[in-house]
Amino acid sequence: MQANEMEPLYIKINDIDNTAIIVNEGGLKEGTVFTCGIELQRSIPQGHKVALETIEKDGEIIRYGEVIGYAKDRLEKGSWIRDSLMNLPIPPELSSLKTYGTVKAGEPLEEEYTFLGYKNSDGTVGVKNILGITTSVQCVVGVLDVAVQKVKEELLPKYPNVEDVIAINHNYGCGVAINAGDAKIPIRTIQNLAKHPSFGGEIMVVGLGCEKLQPVRLNDGKDDDNIVMLQEQNGFTNMIQAIMDMAEERLERLNQREREVFPISELVVGVQCGGSDAFSGVTANPAVGYATDLLVKAGATVMFSEVTEVRDAVHLLTPRAESKEVADALVREMDWYDKYLDKGDVDRSANPSPGNKKGGLSNVVEKSLGSVVKSGTSPIIDVVSPGDKVRKKGLNFAATPASDFVCGTLQLAAGMHVQVFTTGRGTPYNLSMAPVLKVSTRNELQNQWSDLIDINAGTIATGKATIEDVGWEIFHDIIDTASGTKTTCADKWGIKNDLALFNPAPIT
Ligand code: CA
Repeated sequence: MQANEMEPLYIKINDIDNTAIIVNEGGLKEGTVFTCGIELQRSIPQGHKVALETIEKDGEIIRYGEVIGYAKDRLEKGSWIRDSLMNLPIPPELSSLKTYGTVKAGEPLEEEYTFLGYKNSDGTVGVKNILGITTSVQCVVGVLDVAVQKVKEELLPKYPNVEDVIAINHNYGCGVAINAGDAKIPIRTIQNLAKHPSFGGEIMVVGLGCEKLQPVRLNDGKDDDNIVMLQEQNGFTNMIQAIMDMAEERLERLNQREREVFPISELVVGVQCGGSDAFSGVTANPAVGYATDLLVKAGATVMFSEVTEVRDAVHLLTPRAESKEVADALVREMDWYDKYLDKGDVDRSANPSPGNKKGGLSNVVEKSLGSVVKSGTSPIIDVVSPGDKVRKKGLNFAATPASDFVCGTLQLAAGMHVQVFTTGRGTPYNLSMAPVLKVSTRNELQNQWSDLIDINAGTIATGKATIEDVGWEIFHDIIDTASGTKTTCADKWGIKNDLALFNPAPIT
C-alpha cells in the first residue's frame, strides 16, 4: 500500500494529548474524517498538528503529555495548530529542579556483546585506524592540506592497514583572547581531539611558531618530536618534507595494528538529531532511545547533547540524574547556556529552523520534547562540559550546542567512536573521525535518499515496525559499524564535513 493510499492516520503520543500529527504523505485535505469521527476543518500538511478537541483561548496545547504552547485564540476541534496560533510557554525554572535519583538502572543484557577495535598504547580502544594531524593555528592549514594530499597519494598506499589521514583543521589558535575564561572550551576541545582514540595513541601536531596556542599544549606540554613548526623550516618544500617524514614514521607504527575483540563497555556512542521534523520524536528518536537503553544495559557509554533542545525538557531529565551532583551539573550547564544566549540578545526560541517548522515542529518546546527521547530511560550518571572527555560508563549528558557540526566536534572531543544521527528533513552530514549512522524519521525520506539513509524508522509511523524492532536494528548496526564490518552510506560516498569548534570567548 502506498502511503498516499493509506486511510487517514494521525499519531497521538500521550493519553492526555489534545493534539496529534498527521501521518499521511502529502498531508490530508479539508473535510477528511478520521475513523474516530474527527473532521478536518482545513487541509493539514504531513507532520503538522490537528486539534483533537476544541481548545479555548489561552488553553493548554498538549503533546508528549506536556504543554507545548497556549492557544492565542479558540482552536476548533479538527483545526490545524501551528506556530502562529500559539504562545510559547516559559522554560522550566532552573532553581526549582530539586528532584534526582528517581530512576533505577535497567537489568544488564543477558548476552555479552563485543566489537572489533584497535588497542591503543594508552589503554583506550579505537574503532578506526587513522593518522590524525592536529593544528595549533589556522595559519598552517593551507600548507598542511597540501601535505596531507601528498601523504595520501604517495605514502598511504604503502600502509594498507591505515584507513585515512586527517588534518584537524579549525579557525582557532591566534587572534583570540586566549586567557579569557571561556577560552578553555576551544583549547581543551583541540587537546582532546588530538588524542582521539581512533588515532591510535599517535600524536602529531603542525604549528606555526608565533601563535598564541603554543603547540606544546596539544602534546601534553612536551616539546618533543611530535611537533613540526613551519617557522623552523626552510621554505615550503622543506615544510612538506618535514610533515611527510613525521607522518611516515607514524604510518609505519599504525600499520602494525590489527582489530581485536573488546567488550562493548569500551564503546562510546554519541546520539544527535538534525533537520528534525514532527516525526523525529515519534519514530527515529524513540528508536534511538531504545538503542541507547540497550547500549547502557550492555555496559557501553552513550552521550546525548544539544543544550537548547534539552532546556525545555530539563524537568524530565533532572529526576533521572543519578545523584544531586549530576542534577546540579545539568542545571549548571543549562544556566551557563541561558546566559550565553542572553549575551546575544536571544533565547532558546532562536533554535528551530524554517525546515523544522515546515516539518511540523511549531517551537523549541515541541522540538525539545521530541529530542530528549534519544536519551532513553536510563539514569544519567554524569555531565560532560563542552570539550571535556567522558569520564564514566553509562548514560552521559555532554553539554554542547545543538548545531550539528559543533555538537559532532564536541562529542568527538569527548571520545565518541560512532554517532547515531536522526533526520527528518534530511541532512547528508558526516564526520571523518567517526562513522555517522543516519536514521530517517519518515518513509518518504528513506525513499528519496535511499543511498544516504542507513536505517529507516519511518516504518514505526505506518505500523510496519515497532520502536523495539528499529531500536535493535540500530543497536546491531552500531556494533557492526564500530567493528568495521559495516560501512555507513556517508562513509561509502566519502562525505566529510569540516569540524566546527565551539568558541564562546572573544576574538581579538
Ligand atoms: Ca543537532
